[in-house]
Amino acid sequence: MSKNTKAVAKKQVKTKASTKKATTIKSVAANYVYAFGKKTDGNATMRDLLGGKGANLAEMASIGLPVPPGFTISTEVCGYYYDNGKTYPASLSKSVLKAIKQIESQLGKSFGGRSNPLLVSVRSGARDSMPGMMDTILNLGLNDVTVEGLAEISGNPRFAWDCYRRFIQMYGDVVMGVQARSEEEEDPFHEILEKMKRKLKVETDSDLSTENLKALVDQYKALIRKRTRSAFPQDVFEQLWGATSAVFSSWRNERAILYRQQYAIPAEWGTAVNIQAMVFGNAGDDSATGVAFTRDPANGEKVFYGEYLINAQGEDVVAGVRTPNAIAKLADELPQSYRDLEKVRNKLEKHFKDMQDFEFTIEGGRLFILQTRNGKRTGLAAVRIAVEMQRERLMSQETALLKIPAESIDSLLVPVFDSKALKAAPNIGKGLPAGPGAATGRIAFTAATAEAETRKGNKVVLCRNETSPDDLKGMLHSQGILTSRGGVSSHAALVARQLGKVCICGASEVVINYEKKTLTAGKVVLKEGDYISIDGSTGLIYKGMIESADSEVKRVLEGSLKANKSYTYELFQTVMSWADKHRTLNVRTNADTPAMAKQAVAFGAEGIGLCRTEHMFFDGERIDIMRQMILAADEVQRRSALKKLLPFQKKDFVGLFKAMEGRPVTIRLLDPPLHEFLPHDDVVRRQLAEKLGVPFDFVIDRIKALHEENPMLGCRGCRLGIIYPEITEMQARALFEAAAQVSKGKKAIKIKAEIMIPLVGFRAELADQLAIVHRVAAEVMKKHKIKIDYLVGTMIEVPRAAITADEIAHEADFFSFGTNDLTQTTLGLSRDDMGLFYDQYQSKEIYNQNPFASLDQTGVGKLVELAVERGRQTKPNIKLGICGEHAGDPMSIDFCHRTGLNYVSCSPPRVPIARLAAAQARLRNK
Ligand code: PEP
Ligand code: MG
Repeated sequence: MSKNTKAVAKKQVKTKASTKKATTIKSVAANYVYAFGKKTDGNATMRDLLGGKGANLAEMASIGLPVPPGFTISTEVCGYYYDNGKTYPASLSKSVLKAIKQIESQLGKSFGGRSNPLLVSVRSGARDSMPGMMDTILNLGLNDVTVEGLAEISGNPRFAWDCYRRFIQMYGDVVMGVQARSEEEEDPFHEILEKMKRKLKVETDSDLSTENLKALVDQYKALIRKRTRSAFPQDVFEQLWGATSAVFSSWRNERAILYRQQYAIPAEWGTAVNIQAMVFGNAGDDSATGVAFTRDPANGEKVFYGEYLINAQGEDVVAGVRTPNAIAKLADELPQSYRDLEKVRNKLEKHFKDMQDFEFTIEGGRLFILQTRNGKRTGLAAVRIAVEMQRERLMSQETALLKIPAESIDSLLVPVFDSKALKAAPNIGKGLPAGPGAATGRIAFTAATAEAETRKGNKVVLCRNETSPDDLKGMLHSQGILTSRGGVSSHAALVARQLGKVCICGASEVVINYEKKTLTAGKVVLKEGDYISIDGSTGLIYKGMIESADSEVKRVLEGSLKANKSYTYELFQTVMSWADKHRTLNVRTNADTPAMAKQAVAFGAEGIGLCRTEHMFFDGERIDIMRQMILAADEVQRRSALKKLLPFQKKDFVGLFKAMEGRPVTIRLLDPPLHEFLPHDDVVRRQLAEKLGVPFDFVIDRIKALHEENPMLGCRGCRLGIIYPEITEMQARALFEAAAQVSKGKKAIKIKAEIMIPLVGFRAELADQLAIVHRVAAEVMKKHKIKIDYLVGTMIEVPRAAITADEIAHEADFFSFGTNDLTQTTLGLSRDDMGLFYDQYQSKEIYNQNPFASLDQTGVGKLVELAVERGRQTKPNIKLGICGEHAGDPMSIDFCHRTGLNYVSCSPPRVPIARLAAAQARLRNK
């Protein structure tokens, strides 16, 4: 049972159980419907119950903004709907009827009435907005009778029939499922419309006459009858419940599920349904509809941004079917409405204290606001808006930090096209810049092709006439998205921005032909699979591949651009310095080479939390010596190979210590299964035998002897050092010799080495390895007559280590949670083999998130908490960190903060994200 349903059920039980409080409880139990308008029941704080859209409609109504009246059916009902075989609580229909009556009396209209009919919109609205992922129906309440009434009262039959044909199309699509049957097929309603326009030789929908629209209505109805074998419903309440159920059902459509996974939105939240009186942007030339942002959502600049269409309905703008006008043009076309809109823009920002994305309709010169929400924005815009709003005192530094999705810092660091390569590239067209950055890839015309190509390892740019939310999966797989129709608030743009994808929209000179699989721009014809490059910051489209170059921030950090020449760098620096002020978690990095370490330090890393020493042996001649060591038949042979490896290892450690300039460096002893280093094919095996001067059969026999069925659970981690102590000895010697070397001389560095033993599950394992490390340390220190500051600790990456952390802590100076292996061993789930079933698990929402990407807090997290508690029982000041991939994931970082770890250690590019996420964790959990 979902949480929502439990709440509903609880209310119902209460009603039955207590007769004394019957009246108050009854009104609570009946409260699934919240009105807004003259009488408003909700407000902006009630997002959980009313969804974002419902809560903000209520808030806008109560601060006096012109909101058409309506009501919200709460998210509780969504939970009930799914848990009770798609039915509704008994009291709901009565409450809905009452709420409809309230709208009727406010507007003097009647729902289903012949004269002055009330039409409504039915729209979804979850707690967090999920733009375009769920369903919407407009103009509901029209039928063969009310359309005549609307024609009379408006004095505009064309408008009435335009509304009717739109309604039938939407209802047919969303409620009755009349849709394109394949990706290559056009929408069947759209096809009928286009056919009629071609036949009549007219350009736009608004060129169609009343008679044409009536004919269209007949054709649409016939299409529905043919496809569904049932008639389009004439009963307005049947329409209302059909639409309501379709919206609730859309909470579980494929794209909504995918979206929820992308943004970690829990399935049990559910959506609310908003039913609101229609106002008409298609009532004539003094009517319009549009979407506006209080600031530019692409780059964050403080300019009024948006678009509108005269004589159109909202869906025309967001669906990207017609390319709308920029908002500034409204100042010429409808000057008074533009002034009213500017006032609304300011009021919304001051009230909601964030950049707003709002929908408006102008009906006969009168402005209405239909929705507002915190605007989706690119990463760059998120940073700029937060910094500038803090400077304008619209928000505090703490709020500004919390407003920036931690991942969005990444978009300040992504590559841009190399300026020289760009000059030489053939520009073939231009569209609207909708998601900044540089993308190069092969053209894919369908989401399925995009997915298939990326699975083959190719980079793609998804090119569509317009995208629908069904393209989400293809977009996720693409480097960038190019559409020939639609404006900056089309679905393509909205979703791309949020995904951090490069995007160009409305490139109207580009002609895409799905059947021929061609993209034509002027004289240039490109085929599917050809390379194309798009610059989402300028809107320019190029033929072929273009090299990309580092971002401004990277260039400043590397010294090739002056800091005062880059506003982007200023923004980055501001946010990072705020973050550092507020966070208590330290941020280290996982780095195995000096180059990686240097990059991480430039990004703000405060140490190395994991150096995987096995990565140092993959290269050049080292791999051969490593193989010699593994194949050694006895200790003497092994020691001889290790002796050759030592100088390489020492040199690597010197490089790391130097790059880290005195910051702590955690070096992990050899971890992987040894056979990973051995060649798999006979040709290379033969070459190896020759190089090592041993018989081929000897190589084969040793490889066989080392074979394991489950190498991940086999001879790896500390088990290696335990059975071959000489390996640990060599690594410890290389490390302390390196430390001794850099601790001396003019440029002496104060070393803080942390030696880490992997895959420990028993105290005795750690003690065994510790003895070797301490012995070698003492020998080296004595030899060089110096003292080296070092700690020895262990990874906690198998459940037994977590459970016995109190025992293990006796031996360890620190714990570092290896949550990759801890997830693997706790879930009994191979790190390498989840592909076979993961898709199914995702679509059934068994895992909210990939457990290897975001920590399974209720499972693996419990073991981490246990280990922290038990480790500290034995050693209150034991140092605690995490070095699994989760250390770069904002939600997992929040967990690490709450659990009281000292540091997270992530890959170098994620260091800035981790700094911000650590600050946010502190602010959120203060
Ligand atoms: C881990 O298991 O989380 C870890 C960091 O070690 P590796 O990924 O190298 O196994
Ligand atoms: Mg591990």
